[in-house]
Amino acid sequence: MIDVHKKQIKIWFENHSGYMKDWFKRHPGYNARSAKKWREKNPEYHFNVLKKYRKENPEKDFAHGKVNEEVRNGRLNKLPCNVCKEEKVVAHHPDYSKPLDIIWLCRSHHKEIHNNIKER
Ligand SMILES: [Zn+2]
Ligand SMILES: [Zn+2]
Repeated sequence: MIDVHKKQIKIWFENHSGYMKDWFKRHPGYNARSAKKWREKNPEYHFNVLKKYRKENPEKDFAHGKVNEEVRNGRLNKLPCNVCKEEKVVAHHPDYSKPLDIIWLCRSHHKEIHNNIKER
């Protein structure tokens, strides 16, 4: 796998830890230790998870892609967490049909907001 994929996937996993937690719940035989070995043997695997996610959540994927694109092009600035001012943030979409209508939140406050709205 080429490096850009690895980087993309890493970012994706950082932004979708909730989704992965769900996934682990649905695959009880899969734990972190065996996962590492397993990944080494199946380097394409996580890429396929990503593809599947995109298929299941096209509007979310579009919204996230749109934000990344705008940030990359300098049209959108990442801001510190709306709650605690932490600088490592993810874009939260209150409404996925408005891809650029976002709130910047650190990972823990992002998690909190999703727990509250019980999105999944
Ligand atoms: Zn925060
Ligand atoms: Zn969110």
